[in-house]
Amino acid sequence: MSFREFLKPEVVVEEEVSPEYEVAAILHRNQERTVLFNRVRGSELRVAGNVVASREGMCRALGTDAEGYLKHVAEAERRRGRLVEVEAEEAPAYQRASSLDALPVLKHYRGDAGRYITSGVVIAEDEELGRNASVHRMLVLDSSKMVIRLVERHLHTYYTRALERGEPLEVAVAVGVHPAVMFASAYPLELRRDELEFASAILQKPLRVVRGRRVGVMVPADAEVVIEGRITPEMHPEGPFTDITGTYDSVRLQPVVEVLGVYHREDAIYHALLPAGVEHRLFMGMPREPGIYVRASEVARVRQVALTTGGCSWLHAVVAIEKRAEDEPRRVIEAVMEAHPSVKHVVVVDSDIDVFNPREVEFAIATRFQADRDMVVFRNMRGSSLDPSAQKSGRTAKLGIDATVPLGERDAHRRAEL
Ligand code: MN
Repeated sequence: MSFREFLKPEVVVEEEVSPEYEVAAILHRNQERTVLFNRVRGSELRVAGNVVASREGMCRALGTDAEGYLKHVAEAERRRGRLVEVEAEEAPAYQRASSLDALPVLKHYRGDAGRYITSGVVIAEDEELGRNASVHRMLVLDSSKMVIRLVERHLHTYYTRALERGEPLEVAVAVGVHPAVMFASAYPLELRRDELEFASAILQKPLRVVRGRRVGVMVPADAEVVIEGRITPEMHPEGPFTDITGTYDSVRLQPVVEVLGVYHREDAIYHALLPAGVEHRLFMGMPREPGIYVRASEVARVRQVALTTGGCSWLHAVVAIEKRAEDEPRRVIEAVMEAHPSVKHVVVVDSDIDVFNPREVEFAIATRFQADRDMVVFRNMRGSSLDPSAQKSGRTAKLGIDATVPLGERDAHRRAEL
């Protein structure tokens, strides 16, 4: 389960490129192709981006396909995975000692605050809560400091508990991990569940881990790069940063990470995840779909779920159901909003509609939806901080669209056959 075992470059850039804007621009132009950069100015490391460049690619990485994806992951969530601890000598991640300055950390967009690590899986351990792995952006401040964006989820809890004990929080940041590890780390598992173990459960293969050299946490042994450090009580402005919507996230005071050590494989490949790119959206959006599927399946027979790319893989959900009762679409709309509170618009369609095809979804809205009958508006809801149209407080209006055919009118909606 390694990054390089999955990596299949489709474009190889041989000429030297700049980590400032140039790599990001090339990744942006080739969003659906995996790109390998052999020479990046100022670093010995190679750089790969768009490593997972399609929904099919993500499914392949997780050992499934688009059809089986939701069930595959939902079932993995009920299984246990297996971590196998190896000795430091057997861990490629620790083959070379390096430094933060030696890494090809990119500046992506004009207007961003600086150079950002965007593919870092941050691992922390807590005596009571166990291990946690989650993905966080980190702005490099200098050769020994970064500032980390901590949304108030699990790692924030670990951090707060450490501070209450009067200690900084020790972390290891793994860059360049197998996509299943990155996916699991972006998945909304419950607190106290170990995302690394979940990655193993998804692939039904053991994940090799190694004890950190200077921090008391386990690290994927086959990672390309490991940054060890501690999240301190010191705060520093973080942002602006281009987030998933392709607009600038605001500046906030966030915790400073003090870097204790940087290590990498021989011939390491640094994973550059382009903000707002296809790969970013896949890793953020797809891990939310199985939970939506499970919750919506409590109220209807759900066939498919998509957080659509046009909705930034975050704000728009389309759910296809095998409708059996007229109130099901509305119950599905409410279930989706509970399962994924960041969602803003939910469209429910019949199972003949391909939820991944925006033309089909629009066809369903065009021919099966009546606004005075099939629309439900919610006011003053908790929404996403990533939506620039939401109120300053984060509150937002939401809309549900039932674009299913009324049960008694199926004949009138029969689609022509050739
Ligand atoms: Mn967690």
